[in-house]
Amino acid sequence: MGGAGGGVNSAWQALADECARWHALGREVEFWWRDDDATQPVPALTRLLALAKSAAVPVALAVVPEAATAVLCTGLSSAVSLLQHGVDHRNRAATDERKTEFSDREPLQAALARLSQGRAQLQALSAGRSLDVLVPPWNRLSPQLIAQLPRAGFSGLSRYGARDAISAAQGIRQLNTHVDIIAWNAGRGFVGEEAALTQAVRHLSARRGGLADSSEATGWLTHHACHDEAAWHFLAELFDVTRSLPAVRWIDAREFFAGRAAA
Ligand SMILES: [Zn+2]
Repeated sequence: MGGAGGGVNSAWQALADECARWHALGREVEFWWRDDDATQPVPALTRLLALAKSAAVPVALAVVPEAATAVLCTGLSSAVSLLQHGVDHRNRAATDERKTEFSDREPLQAALARLSQGRAQLQALSAGRSLDVLVPPWNRLSPQLIAQLPRAGFSGLSRYGARDAISAAQGIRQLNTHVDIIAWNAGRGFVGEEAALTQAVRHLSARRGGLADSSEATGWLTHHACHDEAAWHFLAELFDVTRSLPAVRWIDAREFFAGRAAA
């Protein structure tokens, strides 16, 4: 798609066209925004929160409980929600596993105890405003552990990729992310506008065509610590462009996970 040299412009056009199709069907395009690896109010995170505020887009921060400081959670706007990003974000993968905090080698009870402890830690740091939603580091968690999450106090889960059902297990609602703006295997900078927009259009058209759960909001995944100027520029432009697309609405994660209207 798109002629030579017109890739970026045609990718923005493809997003607008896809949203127009939803609009023509009388449907709303719900987007949501998750930013991972929050621990301290470092300049990149401060910049991200300022962008969220100026664009009036709700953001869900996935916070690592063991590395987080209380100052991270103070003075946050009501449009910021807090999710739990693992417990310590340490890679425990065995040599035959892909990166994961929750290795199959760790006994289930031990993992649940850590998760429950991390949840209490984050609740205390955030004065109870964190959601009972787990974002497993590297987006990986075994089905056995997912099934047990309610025992550790969780009611929600967020990973990467189109969900196969609204419930990941009994008592666990899931809302994933679908657009990763970081090029993990190519320098860990911005993946590029065309690549990011293509991922979004792909998820939207799969939802519209019934190839993916059509009610799952399309999630944009960011990592403030990895953003280069191109990534920041893209996000600002995305919020700007989507504001003028009539079908688009950025939802607050609490709307899904807590059944609460956006603040
Ligand atoms: Zn992470």
